[in-house]
Amino acid sequence: MKDPTRYFTEHFEFISSDNDAGYLSALGAALESCFARVTAALDVAPSKSVRVYIYPDLKSFHRAIGMTDAPDWVVGNAMDGGIHIVSPNGAGSRAFDDMQKVLIHEFVHIVTRCLSGDVYSVPCWLSEGVAVYEAGQLPGRLPADNPPPLSDLAAHGPETFAGLGGYQYAYTLVELIVKRFGYGKLRQLIASPGDMETVLGMSEAEFYALWADYLNRRYPRGN
Ligand SMILES: [Zn+2]
Repeated sequence: MKDPTRYFTEHFEFISSDNDAGYLSALGAALESCFARVTAALDVAPSKSVRVYIYPDLKSFHRAIGMTDAPDWVVGNAMDGGIHIVSPNGAGSRAFDDMQKVLIHEFVHIVTRCLSGDVYSVPCWLSEGVAVYEAGQLPGRLPADNPPPLSDLAAHGPETFAGLGGYQYAYTLVELIVKRFGYGKLRQLIASPGDMETVLGMSEAEFYALWADYLNRRYPRGN
Protein backbone atom coordinates (compact mmCIF):
# COMPACT_ATOMS: atom_id res chain seq x y z
CA MET A 1 0.00 0.00 0.00
CA LYS A 2 1.55 3.34 -1.09
CA ASP A 3 1.64 6.24 1.37
CA PRO A 4 -0.99 4.76 3.65
CA THR A 5 -3.19 6.82 5.91
CA ARG A 6 -2.82 5.87 9.55
CA TYR A 7 -5.44 6.39 12.19
CA PHE A 8 -5.10 5.46 15.84
CA THR A 9 -7.72 4.69 18.46
CA GLU A 10 -7.10 3.44 22.00
CA HIS A 11 -6.72 -0.23 21.03
CA PHE A 12 -6.35 -0.19 17.23
CA GLU A 13 -4.17 1.18 14.50
CA PHE A 14 -5.86 1.55 11.08
CA ILE A 15 -3.93 1.52 7.86
CA SER A 16 -5.73 2.43 4.64
CA SER A 17 -5.37 4.26 1.37
CA ASP A 18 -6.30 7.95 1.29
CA ASN A 19 -9.51 7.09 -0.54
CA ASP A 20 -10.78 5.15 2.45
CA ALA A 21 -9.63 7.59 5.13
CA GLY A 22 -13.18 8.92 5.47
CA TYR A 23 -14.35 5.60 6.91
CA LEU A 24 -11.74 5.30 9.61
CA SER A 25 -13.35 7.19 12.44
CA ALA A 26 -16.63 5.25 12.04
CA LEU A 27 -14.81 1.90 11.84
CA GLY A 28 -12.64 2.88 14.82
CA ALA A 29 -15.74 3.77 16.84
CA ALA A 30 -17.37 0.44 15.91
CA LEU A 31 -14.39 -1.56 17.12
CA GLU A 32 -13.78 0.47 20.27
CA SER A 33 -17.45 0.21 21.21
CA CYS A 34 -17.27 -3.60 21.23
CA PHE A 35 -13.76 -3.94 22.71
CA ALA A 36 -14.79 -4.02 26.38
CA ARG A 37 -17.69 -6.41 25.79
CA VAL A 38 -15.72 -8.93 23.69
CA THR A 39 -12.62 -8.94 25.89
CA ALA A 40 -14.80 -9.31 29.01
CA ALA A 41 -16.77 -12.18 27.46
CA LEU A 42 -13.59 -14.06 26.55
CA ASP A 43 -11.71 -12.74 29.60
CA VAL A 44 -8.58 -11.98 27.63
CA ALA A 45 -7.33 -9.06 25.52
CA PRO A 46 -4.59 -8.62 22.92
CA SER A 47 -1.36 -7.52 24.60
CA LYS A 48 -0.81 -4.68 22.15
CA SER A 49 -2.63 -2.45 19.72
CA VAL A 50 -4.27 -4.44 16.91
CA ARG A 51 -3.51 -3.35 13.36
CA VAL A 52 -6.41 -3.10 10.91
CA TYR A 53 -5.47 -3.12 7.23
CA ILE A 54 -8.12 -1.82 4.85
CA TYR A 55 -7.79 -2.77 1.18
CA PRO A 56 -9.39 -0.68 -1.56
CA ASP A 57 -10.92 -3.63 -3.46
CA LEU A 58 -11.58 -7.37 -3.31
CA LYS A 59 -8.74 -8.23 -5.63
CA SER A 60 -6.00 -6.58 -3.60
CA PHE A 61 -7.50 -8.00 -0.40
CA HIS A 62 -7.63 -11.57 -1.71
CA ARG A 63 -4.04 -11.26 -2.94
CA ALA A 64 -2.90 -9.98 0.47
CA ILE A 65 -4.45 -12.93 2.32
CA GLY A 66 -3.06 -15.43 -0.18
CA MET A 67 -6.50 -16.50 -1.49
CA THR A 68 -6.60 -15.18 -5.05
CA ASP A 69 -9.48 -17.54 -5.96
CA ALA A 70 -11.62 -16.65 -2.93
CA PRO A 71 -15.31 -15.98 -3.56
CA ASP A 72 -16.55 -12.38 -3.33
CA TRP A 73 -18.14 -12.90 0.07
CA VAL A 74 -14.69 -13.38 1.64
CA VAL A 75 -14.21 -9.74 2.73
CA GLY A 76 -12.33 -10.05 6.02
CA ASN A 77 -9.56 -12.10 7.57
CA ALA A 78 -7.60 -12.25 10.81
CA MET A 79 -3.99 -13.13 10.23
CA ASP A 80 -0.68 -12.64 11.99
CA GLY A 81 -2.35 -10.79 14.84
CA GLY A 82 -3.88 -8.21 12.49
CA ILE A 83 -7.28 -7.64 10.90
CA HIS A 84 -7.51 -7.42 7.11
CA ILE A 85 -10.70 -6.21 5.43
CA VAL A 86 -11.94 -4.78 2.18
CA SER A 87 -12.92 -1.14 2.30
CA PRO A 88 -16.69 -0.61 2.51
CA ASN A 89 -16.06 1.19 -0.81
CA GLY A 90 -14.75 -1.94 -2.46
CA ALA A 91 -16.92 -4.62 -0.90
CA GLY A 92 -19.48 -4.76 -3.70
CA SER A 93 -23.03 -4.88 -2.45
CA ARG A 94 -22.10 -5.25 1.21
CA ALA A 95 -23.61 -2.43 3.25
CA PHE A 96 -21.48 -0.37 5.61
CA ASP A 97 -23.27 -1.81 8.62
CA ASP A 98 -22.48 -5.30 7.35
CA MET A 99 -18.78 -4.42 6.99
CA GLN A 100 -18.69 -3.11 10.56
CA LYS A 101 -19.88 -6.54 11.68
CA VAL A 102 -17.18 -8.18 9.57
CA LEU A 103 -14.62 -6.00 11.32
CA ILE A 104 -15.91 -7.04 14.76
CA HIS A 105 -16.01 -10.69 13.60
CA GLU A 106 -12.32 -10.55 12.70
CA PHE A 107 -11.49 -8.85 15.98
CA VAL A 108 -13.22 -11.69 17.85
CA HIS A 109 -10.94 -14.12 15.98
CA ILE A 110 -7.93 -12.16 17.25
CA VAL A 111 -9.19 -12.30 20.83
CA THR A 112 -10.13 -15.99 20.53
CA ARG A 113 -6.58 -16.77 19.45
CA CYS A 114 -5.32 -15.22 22.71
CA LEU A 115 -7.17 -18.11 24.40
CA SER A 116 -6.49 -20.93 22.01
CA GLY A 117 -3.02 -20.20 20.63
CA ASP A 118 -3.29 -21.96 17.31
CA VAL A 119 -6.62 -21.23 15.67
CA TYR A 120 -6.56 -24.49 13.75
CA SER A 121 -6.61 -26.46 16.97
CA VAL A 122 -10.15 -25.15 17.56
CA PRO A 123 -12.96 -26.72 15.50
CA CYS A 124 -14.17 -24.34 12.83
CA TRP A 125 -17.73 -24.28 14.22
CA LEU A 126 -16.37 -23.05 17.55
CA SER A 127 -13.99 -20.36 16.27
CA GLU A 128 -16.43 -19.10 13.63
CA GLY A 129 -19.35 -19.48 16.01
CA VAL A 130 -17.83 -17.18 18.60
CA ALA A 131 -17.02 -14.66 15.86
CA VAL A 132 -20.50 -14.56 14.29
CA TYR A 133 -22.23 -14.65 17.68
CA GLU A 134 -20.23 -11.80 19.20
CA ALA A 135 -20.44 -9.77 15.99
CA GLY A 136 -24.23 -10.15 15.92
CA GLN A 137 -24.23 -11.80 12.50
CA LEU A 138 -27.60 -13.46 12.96
CA PRO A 139 -28.15 -16.83 11.30
CA GLY A 140 -31.37 -15.95 9.49
CA ARG A 141 -33.34 -18.89 8.18
CA LEU A 142 -31.59 -22.21 8.67
CA PRO A 143 -31.65 -25.02 6.12
CA ALA A 144 -34.56 -27.41 6.69
CA ASP A 145 -32.40 -30.55 6.64
CA ASN A 146 -31.02 -32.18 9.73
CA PRO A 147 -27.97 -30.28 10.97
CA PRO A 148 -24.65 -31.74 9.80
CA PRO A 149 -22.53 -33.74 12.25
CA LEU A 150 -20.15 -31.60 14.28
CA SER A 151 -17.22 -33.43 12.73
CA ASP A 152 -18.27 -32.02 9.32
CA LEU A 153 -18.39 -28.53 10.80
CA ALA A 154 -14.97 -28.88 12.42
CA ALA A 155 -12.85 -28.63 9.28
CA HIS A 156 -11.39 -25.25 8.39
CA GLY A 157 -11.79 -23.86 4.88
CA PRO A 158 -14.30 -21.07 4.33
CA GLU A 159 -15.95 -22.39 1.16
CA THR A 160 -16.64 -25.92 2.39
CA PHE A 161 -17.75 -24.58 5.75
CA ALA A 162 -20.07 -22.00 4.20
CA GLY A 163 -21.46 -24.62 1.81
CA LEU A 164 -22.70 -26.62 4.80
CA GLY A 165 -24.45 -23.58 6.26
CA GLY A 166 -21.56 -23.58 8.71
CA TYR A 167 -21.66 -19.93 9.73
CA GLN A 168 -25.38 -20.12 10.50
CA TYR A 169 -25.10 -23.37 12.43
CA ALA A 170 -22.00 -22.13 14.25
CA TYR A 171 -23.97 -19.14 15.54
CA THR A 172 -26.61 -21.41 17.03
CA LEU A 173 -24.01 -23.73 18.58
CA VAL A 174 -22.25 -20.91 20.39
CA GLU A 175 -25.57 -19.32 21.35
CA LEU A 176 -26.58 -22.64 22.91
CA ILE A 177 -23.27 -22.95 24.80
CA VAL A 178 -23.48 -19.39 26.14
CA LYS A 179 -27.13 -19.69 27.20
CA ARG A 180 -26.99 -23.19 28.61
CA PHE A 181 -23.46 -23.38 30.04
CA GLY A 182 -22.22 -19.76 30.21
CA TYR A 183 -19.16 -17.90 28.97
CA GLY A 184 -16.82 -19.64 31.43
CA LYS A 185 -17.49 -22.99 29.75
CA LEU A 186 -17.24 -21.41 26.31
CA ARG A 187 -13.77 -20.12 27.21
CA GLN A 188 -12.73 -23.52 28.57
CA LEU A 189 -13.92 -25.21 25.40
CA ILE A 190 -11.87 -22.83 23.25
CA ALA A 191 -8.81 -23.36 25.44
CA SER A 192 -9.27 -27.18 25.52
CA PRO A 193 -11.00 -27.96 22.25
CA GLY A 194 -12.02 -31.56 21.82
CA ASP A 195 -12.49 -31.98 25.56
CA MET A 196 -16.27 -31.63 25.52
CA GLU A 197 -16.70 -34.45 28.00
CA THR A 198 -14.66 -32.69 30.69
CA VAL A 199 -15.81 -29.15 29.93
CA LEU A 200 -19.53 -29.65 29.30
CA GLY A 201 -19.95 -32.96 31.09
CA MET A 202 -21.39 -34.69 28.05
CA SER A 203 -20.22 -36.64 25.04
CA GLU A 204 -20.19 -35.07 21.58
CA ALA A 205 -23.18 -37.26 20.66
CA GLU A 206 -25.13 -36.00 23.68
CA PHE A 207 -24.21 -32.42 22.84
CA TYR A 208 -25.34 -32.93 19.24
CA ALA A 209 -28.71 -34.23 20.46
CA LEU A 210 -29.06 -31.24 22.77
CA TRP A 211 -28.26 -28.91 19.85
CA ALA A 212 -30.71 -30.61 17.47
CA ASP A 213 -33.43 -30.20 20.08
CA TYR A 214 -32.43 -26.54 20.62
CA LEU A 215 -32.65 -25.88 16.89
CA ASN A 216 -36.11 -27.39 16.70
CA ARG A 217 -37.36 -25.21 19.51
CA ARG A 218 -35.45 -21.96 18.86
CA TYR A 219 -35.20 -22.07 15.06
CA PRO A 220 -38.26 -23.90 13.74
CA ARG A 221 -37.66 -24.93 10.14
CA GLY A 222 -39.51 -26.68 7.40
CA ASN A 223 -42.18 -25.09 5.24
ZN1 LIG B 1 -14.38 -15.94 10.63
